[in-house]
Amino acid sequence: MQNTCLECNEKLIGRIDKKFCNDACRNTYNNRLNKDSRNLIRNVNNRLRKNYRILEDLNPNQKTKVSRSRLVEKGFDFNYLTTVYTTKAGKTYYFVYNQGYLPLEDDYFALVKREN
Ligand SMILES: [Zn+2]
Repeated sequence: MQNTCLECNEKLIGRIDKKFCNDACRNTYNNRLNKDSRNLIRNVNNRLRKNYRILEDLNPNQKTKVSRSRLVEKGFDFNYLTTVYTTKAGKTYYFVYNQGYLPLEDDYFALVKREN
């Protein structure tokens, strides 16, 4: 079976478990992988930070009620959160750090702030 370098696709000669033709290819490949994961983490962190600021802006006094459209208009992304908390009564709160929301009827949300 013929293996090829994961970086440059050159045919590999030698040990069967070789993945790269040389250290340069190995380094280039690993650096790119690390960069991709750093970018992913940075992008997720940015989304979380933006969601957090939106909740903080809309909820300056610990507790309020807002419509879904108001959140969406501000750029809130419902895919990014840090914690899901379900009460004994079965209500589910979604948190971005200590800022949370509880879905209500008619596309409204109760915004809450959890004290640290
Ligand atoms: Zn190579």
